[in-house]
Formats: sequence, C-alpha cells, structure tokens
Amino acid sequence: MTQSKGYAAQDEQTDLAPWNFERRDVGAHDVLIEIQYCGVCHSDLHQIKNDWFPGIFPMVPGHEIVGKIAAVGAHVTKFKVGELAGVGCMVDSCRTCENCKQDLEQYCLGGGTGTYNSMGKDGIPTYGGYSSNIVVSEDFALHISDKLSLAAVAPLLCAGITTYSPLRHWKVGKGHKLAVLGLGGLGHMAVKFGVAFGADVTVLSTSPSKEAAARELGAHNFVVTTDPAQVEAVKGKFDFILDTVSAKHDMGLYLSLLRTNGTHICVGAPSEPHEIPAFALLGGRKSVAGSGIGGIAETQEMLDYCAEHNITAEIEMIDIKNITAAYERMMKGDVRYRFVIDMNTL
Ligand code: NAP
Ligand code: ZN
Ligand code: ZN
Repeated sequence: MTQSKGYAAQDEQTDLAPWNFERRDVGAHDVLIEIQYCGVCHSDLHQIKNDWFPGIFPMVPGHEIVGKIAAVGAHVTKFKVGELAGVGCMVDSCRTCENCKQDLEQYCLGGGTGTYNSMGKDGIPTYGGYSSNIVVSEDFALHISDKLSLAAVAPLLCAGITTYSPLRHWKVGKGHKLAVLGLGGLGHMAVKFGVAFGADVTVLSTSPSKEAAARELGAHNFVVTTDPAQVEAVKGKFDFILDTVSAKHDMGLYLSLLRTNGTHICVGAPSEPHEIPAFALLGGRKSVAGSGIGGIAETQEMLDYCAEHNITAEIEMIDIKNITAAYERMMKGDVRYRFVIDMNTL
C-alpha cells in the first residue's frame, strides 16, 4: 500500500485534523502524484457537513490537485516521473456508457467515482487532495503546463472547468450579455472566461466591496443585488446568467433579469431545492439549466487554453492548519477568490 498523510473530518460535526491513511499500490495504469497544492472548493464544505447526502467518513476533501509525478505503473504511457500533473473532481467512471464514450465522464450513467467521498471500484473509499499524495489512473490525470504559477493553476481543476464547460456548451461569446451571479471561486473564473470569450460581463453580487476586484478581473459592469434600484436597472438585460451561488436564493428575482429566450445556468449547488415560479419562466420563454464540472478531454482543453492565454485563479495561499478559519470565511462569502493549501505545510 501507499502511505499517505492528510487532513480529515471524522464526522460532520468535527473540524478537519491530521490523519494518516493508506492508498492503493500504484497499479499498471496508475500514476502516483506528490501533491504540492490543493484548492479549497465550496463543495468541500458542503460535503464535510453532509449538506447534499450522508458522507463517507473519515473524509479527506480536496479536488483541485496539482503536483509532480513520483511513480508510474508499468503500462503508463501518458506521464513520466518528474512531470507536473493534476487531478480534478473524478478519478474513475464506467468508461462504457454512452456519456463516457462521448467524453462526458462527469455524467457517467454507470456511476462514476469522485475524487473523495466516493466508493472506488475496489470497494475502498476515495480520499482527496488535502493530503501528501494520490494514486490515480493515468486516464483521469491531467497534464499541467509549467508556464503558469502552479498554485494558481490548482483551482482550474474544479472552479475552472465548471465555468468553462457551460460557457463553451452554450457558446457564450461576442454579442452576448453574460451575468455572473456570485463572485467567489467559481464566479471569478466565470468572469475571466466570459471576458476571454468576448462576452459583455456583469457581476451580480451581494458584496459591494468586491466591485473594484470584479472590474480588475475584466467585468464590464457590477450590480449589488441587495440594492433594488441597481437590480431594477438590469431587468430583462441578460442572455445568460451563470449562477454560482452556494446557498438558497431568489430564482424569480434573477430570472426577471434575463431577456426573452434567456438561460439561467445553475452551477452552484445549494442543499435546498430552488423554488421557481412558473410565470418567471413562461413570460419570456426562459430556461433554467444546469452543468456539472466537465469531462477529462474538456478539462485538458481548458488547461491548455489557460496556458495559452495566461489565465489562472486569483488565490490566497493558506497553511493547512488554517483550513477551518478559511471555511468560516467561505461561509460568509469572504473569499478572494480561491483559497489554495500549500501542501508543504502538511
Ligand atoms: P464560494 O467561493 O463560496 O462562492 C460562492 C459565492 O456565492 C459567494 O462568494 C457569494 O458571492 C455568493 N453567495 C453566497 N451565499 C449567497 C447567498 N445566500 N445569496 C447570494 N449570493 C450568495 O463557492 P464556490 O467554490 O465558487 O462554489 C459555489 C457553488 O458551486 C457551491 O455550491 C459548490 O458546491 C458548487 N459547485 C458546483 C460544481 C458543479 O459541477 N456544478 C462544481 C464546483 C462547485 P458574492 O459575495 O459576490 O455575493
Ligand atoms: Zn469543486
Ligand atoms: Zn460511464
């Protein structure tokens, strides 16, 4: 077995604390990655708190993983020892269903395997990136360019692909007015991609203090959603809203900001279901849609695009000992704009 140390929650009421554990041996098609940095996603917080479903404990969160290849199995062809590599939200899928065959492993019909809080095909729970190393099939590892700051690349593995994928799917770009709802980890990446793809980007935020940063990220407009006059001024204005909000919010209000035929794309995953008034949809033939992370091929495409266009996350590096304080700030919306754990502090 491969020895690993990390930070784990022992149950949904306990803060993360040091925990030693074992990972599988490096199999013929596996790579071993020594983890250097791991981003902190709001999904980590949802899962250690059992917000979505009862979790598998002890739980080692983390699915924005970057580091160096330390070993490769006998049949590995895509990676060499010493290269940079990344792991996102998935470590396996059935590989045979119609979605897997179309590079949409994130929608695997046979039950994919999450990077943590999931059961591997071997019946052993998966453990995430708040840890010293990870063993993963080479098919679920990503190539990382050495042109960009490695720590600032980590959040691309979830926040990056989760916003890149829907913007590409709906072909958001020149001539579109895009609103990004919520300026946190996902939201700030959505602004960067929206701007890069040529859209006119507005940030819809509950935090007036984020305006200057939003404009620095390239946003053309900033609306404080707690100010009724500012909201009124953008009624019926947007072709798309990319909704990254992590808590319950007023869908009727935001749908009123869409133009006729506009689409509200949910990527945020609050624990409670949305309430959607029928009239908010039928007046203007509006759609509510959703999107989950992205497939492995599209994640690689996004990483390559970021290397080419010099796009990374805005990060605040933390010591792993401060992870609980970081979660407390995340709960208050006080994230600028992604915490990244320096795994040297483990
Ligand atoms: P985050 O960094 O905490 O950002 C969320 C932002 O939403 C906050 O910064 C805040 O922005 C806004 N917000 C929070 N509570 C709000 C409320 N009650 N009403 C209105 N706005 C509120 O979180 P994240 O890591 O970006 O993740 C966001 C959500 O996406 C989470 O639910 C996460 O689980 C989910 N997620 C989904 C996928 C997927 O595949 N679809 C992948 C990753 C994450 P302002 O201060 O600007 O208002
Ligand atoms: Zn995530
Ligand atoms: Zn599948």
